[in-house]
Amino acid sequence: MIRLSKSFLGDEEKAAVTQVIEDGYLGMGSYVGDFEKLLEDYFQRSVVCVSTGTAALQLSLQAIDIEPGDEVLVPALTYVASFQAISGAGATPIACDVNDKTLFIDVEDARNKITKRTKAIMPVYYGGGYGDVDGIAELARVSNIRVIDDSAHAFGSKRNGLLIGSFGDISCFSFDGIKNITSGEGGCVVSDDPEVIKKVKDARLLGVENDTDSRLAGKRTWDFNVTNQGWRCHMSNLMAGIGIVQFHKKDFMFERRMLLAKYYDSCLRDYGAIEVLPNNYDEIVPHIYVIRVKGIKDRDKLVSELLEKGIQSGKHYLPNHLLDFYKGKSTKPIKNTESIWPELITLPLHPELTTNQVDYICENLKQSLKIRAICE
Ligand SMILES: *Cc1c(COP(=O)(O)O)cnc(C)c1O
Repeated sequence: MIRLSKSFLGDEEKAAVTQVIEDGYLGMGSYVGDFEKLLEDYFQRSVVCVSTGTAALQLSLQAIDIEPGDEVLVPALTYVASFQAISGAGATPIACDVNDKTLFIDVEDARNKITKRTKAIMPVYYGGGYGDVDGIAELARVSNIRVIDDSAHAFGSKRNGLLIGSFGDISCFSFDGIKNITSGEGGCVVSDDPEVIKKVKDARLLGVENDTDSRLAGKRTWDFNVTNQGWRCHMSNLMAGIGIVQFHKKDFMFERRMLLAKYYDSCLRDYGAIEVLPNNYDEIVPHIYVIRVKGIKDRDKLVSELLEKGIQSGKHYLPNHLLDFYKGKSTKPIKNTESIWPELITLPLHPELTTNQVDYICENLKQSLKIRAICE
């Protein structure tokens, strides 16, 4: 079976976990501090590590003082984590459309959905790529709202030579098992805003003020104050131990992902009804490889045909405004998202995938599409 995605782990990660166990302190301690330092050098900004990418988003929202009734603009086409982070922070996610080529949040649709209650916009770096980042930054500036990037897919991706996360307002990454690097589970918040950084640091550990510095030095705070709602969303030494090893392996893993995506592009670009994402894989480290098969009416059947050939594929994502919890009062269709998502198929991508396997996947995909006469 060719897996859709897969962690890339080995003896170094095992050794790191063993080391943490032998050191005898599993919670948030020096390993987390070391991982944060590596990430701060990488992004040249302040970094706070937390338990998941979802927590990174939710704590960032909390740190910009979201209040009940506040609205956050977010593309409908994203993982439910983006929406859950917004509702979890007490705000209302406002589903926006995506650009039909880049699948990045559509600036005009976002502009039309700004109200007095809009507090932030959360663009999603779908697949690791992006669209009109400058348009979103400008919209946020003139509307006086914050930008919290959901960069869960984009660790290592660059834009015009600059790392995603090294510019902009607040960026959130995920280190879950299948993301570009993993710490088992985990995530981080990256920002230049000292107030956001301080608030996320406190909120990740039950709101205990200034606890981070003691913890990273292996101590505990006994006399403290709490002024805000906090959570148990810190990163543990066990996780950071894995994350540090993965950070040092990142160049190899990124190269594999970029090479494989380029290889897919060369096999599939302009084949019949297939559209590939307009990503420059010399700069973009793809988390998933997604194609659009224009006009396909039976995607689930295609998915099961591939599965019969030993190929897993995926559907990123079911638009969130169609979920019962997020349907809301307005049922206005979200045009591009609703027409595009049934045509999206995610093909296997992970560092251990080979170009021979990509050949096999593309051959079988083309075979399946031929029968449908939407591709000749
Ligand atoms: C993975 C992911 C997240 C959340 O990250 P977790 O670490 O799994 O909580 C958020 N947004 C998107 C688009 C993701 O793919």
